[in-house]
Amino acid sequence: MEYSSLPARLARVRERIGDACLRASRPPEEVTIVAVTKTHPAAAVLAARAAGLRDCGENRVQELEEKVGEAGRDAVRWHLIGQLQRNKARRALPLFDLLHSLDSLRLAQRLSQLALEAGTEVHALAQVNASGEESKSGFSPEELIDALGEICALPGLRVEGLMTMAPFTDDERRVRDAFSRTRRLREEAARQLPAFRPLHLSMGMSNDYEAAVEEGSTLVRLGTILFGEREA
Ligand SMILES: *Cc1c(COP(=O)(O)O)cnc(C)c1O
Repeated sequence: MEYSSLPARLARVRERIGDACLRASRPPEEVTIVAVTKTHPAAAVLAARAAGLRDCGENRVQELEEKVGEAGRDAVRWHLIGQLQRNKARRALPLFDLLHSLDSLRLAQRLSQLALEAGTEVHALAQVNASGEESKSGFSPEELIDALGEICALPGLRVEGLMTMAPFTDDERRVRDAFSRTRRLREEAARQLPAFRPLHLSMGMSNDYEAAVEEGSTLVRLGTILFGEREA
């Protein structure tokens, strides 16, 4: 695989993010691109770095481990964006800088315990199932604040915001509703929970990142639009 088109693709994406920020009266510096390198070789990480990107995302622990091994732990900030099983948490812990997919109290308890053992602090975003689709994991909007209250009390774990995935639909209004709902939940969590740090909203993928930026995203997770279609 060759990534010679990445700089031009990235320039176009940055321009669109800039336009979306203008429409929403936001400074573009608030938006960080997480280059989603899953299924691509470590060369994609190096190409992303060379193009000026400093954040890469992987959705599986095994692949994250391989990529970190090849590209280097300090090559980029590593984001774990896919579901993390509790029995893989120990292996994953030293590999990521930010977990986007904290989706249960039990996972939070496990991460807290491992962080204390390792003498480190885990940084994570709570995943919200804003659309209510059954296929999606994450906290329902109704249960989120109570769950966050418990999670934020755990030592060794710092919750720095929320993540959501838009519903699978072409209906732009439903996509936008999921994003704006997640933004309002972040505001509510910040009001009610002093230990919650409302730094991030991880929202937006290749086909919906402009709407996500207009609705307040600070981390857009982009794969296809930067690296091309993934092999099945
Ligand atoms: C694969 C993936 C992305 C990137 O998807 P694209 O449509 O290729 O941009 C973003 N977020 C998560 C959680 C993913 O698994």
